[in-house]
Parts: sequence; structure tokens; C-alpha cells
Amino acid sequence: MADAFPFIGGRIALNFVGTLGKRSTEKLERLRTPDDLARWVELAGLGSISTDEADLEAARVLREALYVLTMATLDRGPLRRADVELVNERAAHETPAPALAITRATALDPKALGRRDPQPSASEVLAVVARDGIELLSGPDAGSIRECEDPDCTLLFVDTSRSQRRRWCSMNNCGARAKMRTLRAAH
Ligand SMILES: [Zn+2]
Repeated sequence: MADAFPFIGGRIALNFVGTLGKRSTEKLERLRTPDDLARWVELAGLGSISTDEADLEAARVLREALYVLTMATLDRGPLRRADVELVNERAAHETPAPALAITRATALDPKALGRRDPQPSASEVLAVVARDGIELLSGPDAGSIRECEDPDCTLLFVDTSRSQRRRWCSMNNCGARAKMRTLRAAH
């Protein structure tokens, strides 16, 4: 069965980084095939793309550069010029142009404006991801990036909570497990 992708990062770039999970232990690779990449892009709302092995490789390389840069931002890893250049290079590619389409809405109002479904290339999608990473890591949200406190999880997210005290990728997963552990320890 295909892996479910976590979309808990609050940002395209962090959700993309999260396609490799459990980074501190066995590493859970969710982008195993070009089809996995196409599926992620679709679920991320970035359009329908066709992908090949080269796209998959490019995607993984970008993902790991974004991960290393994010960890450097958190002061938990080296800041490497090669990663900066790689992200910049990817971001310099074209991104998909938004396009209007005239769609049929209802019988009474047969014409309505909508958005044409994007059918970008893989390179255009990776440019969107890279640009989001640049905006994130150089913008005001950089200070709110957190890693899930479950040491096995390693998912990253932007903490948009007012208290700035979000600890878990998800209260349903890691948050609930931590709660169980606390309860058991108390008994
Ligand atoms: Zn987690």
C-alpha cells in the first residue's frame, strides 16, 4: 500500500521535507517511485504532473538540501553553501502561471470564471517548492519552525499557535503517544 503523506508542516517546503520520515532512525522514504512524487504533488494541490526517475532524483536532492538548511536555521546542523546554491538554482526555474478558465457553473448561469487546472512540469513544481523554502527560511516564519518532540518522528512544522508552544506534528499521533507514556509513567 502507498504511504500516506503527512501535510502537517504548514508550508509546502516543510511538507515536502516530511516525505522522508523517521530521519533519526530507520528513515521512512515515502518518495520511492516517480508515481509517489506525482501523488504528493497532486495531494499538495500543485497540479497533475508526469514524472520520471530523473524528476524523482531531483526532488530528493532538493528535499535534502531544504532539510539541511532548515536544521541549520534551527542551529542543529551545518550551514552549507552547496545547499543554498542548489535551492537557489531550483527556484530560478519557471513556476506555473495561474490561468483563468471559463467554466460552466449552473444551468441558469452557464458561464463562470474558474481556475484552469494546472498541469505543470516536474521542474515547475520543484521551483514552487524551492521558492517556498526560500521565503520560509529567510522570512518571519523561520523563527517558528519546530521539530516534533517525539524523537523518532522528525517531522518539521511552522508553529502558528498563539502561545508558540506547539510540540507535536499531530495531537492524534505523536501527541497522543506522549500522553499515553505520561499516563503510564504516572501509574
Ligand atoms: Zn511527530
